[in-house]
Amino acid sequence: GIDLDRVAGLIRSVPDYPTPGVLFRDITPVLADGEAFAVVATELAALAGEADLVVGVEARGFLLGGAVALVAGVGTVPVRKAGKLPVVAATRTYDLEYGTATLELAADTVAPGTRVYVVDDVLATGGTAAAACALLTDVGAEVVGFGALLELPALGGRSKLGDVRVDALLNG
Ligand code: IMP
Repeated sequence: GIDLDRVAGLIRSVPDYPTPGVLFRDITPVLADGEAFAVVATELAALAGEADLVVGVEARGFLLGGAVALVAGVGTVPVRKAGKLPVVAATRTYDLEYGTATLELAADTVAPGTRVYVVDDVLATGGTAAAACALLTDVGAEVVGFGALLELPALGGRSKLGDVRVDALLNG
């Protein structure tokens, strides 16, 4: 068995990506390691608790969300970047450092009252997570928490999530 310290050791830090001055955390080596992937999925599934559904945020959140849902014994639904879904129930646009981004939720995927756990790989400034959670409340779902493999606490993203519980397996 392996622990979260070994998972942390698998995260690669890439300087000056995607722009100069940014230290990008590449979590793909964690997913590529079967034991590490299982540890992460199991830990997040435990945090998902009594959720009825796991939502993963495009794109690495799809990989994590699917695994977490399977471990938790529930289904999974993707939150997608704009323009990928044929029939949209909710749209949210949020600010990036330069410009904006838009996320969408497909129609007829999340029923009102569904208890949802939202998953992504990295919580940075929090705009993505906040928009994903807002899409779910837009359709009448209850967000029981947001879980990330890695939180970058210096960026203060947690504060954008209001009263949504935020779980992070690692901090960096
Ligand atoms: P935020 O909206 O600033 O919190 O950025 C979070 C979104 O951008 C997530 O969907 C992440 O996948 C991605 N992201 C931001 N920073 C990083 C990073 O250092 N590594 C990997 N993904 C990141």
